[in-house]
Amino acid sequence: MSAIGSLIFCTACGNLLRESTGDANAILHCDVCGTRNKDTIPQTVVSESKPSAFPSALRAKRSAVQELTAEDRTHEAITQKTCPQCGRKEMFFTTMQLRGADEGSTVFYRCVCGHKETEDN
Ligand SMILES: [Zn+2]
Ligand SMILES: [Zn+2]
Repeated sequence: MSAIGSLIFCTACGNLLRESTGDANAILHCDVCGTRNKDTIPQTVVSESKPSAFPSALRAKRSAVQELTAEDRTHEAITQKTCPQCGRKEMFFTTMQLRGADEGSTVFYRCVCGHKETEDN
């Protein structure tokens, strides 16, 4: 590994000394303050990207989708409708706009016994 051509600065005053000789044992005298500097260039600090940042963002996005799905289920409401299968007078229902807004919506009924039926408005 050669450092020839790299610029060396005084560690004490920051004065530009001269181009590196490539000899790590060489001593470079500063013309300004007289400090004897070793002919070595500072190690380049590599800023590491955090690989954990991206997967965690994906996990957060995935959990947000799951929460949304659970929230959709809570939109189910109870209506007074007799279940033809078990005779229970309350059924869960959800309304869904399947087609165009001018064509009405479909109501999905669900009973705790498992009976399901749909009704077009
Ligand atoms: Zn100096
Ligand atoms: Zn039922």
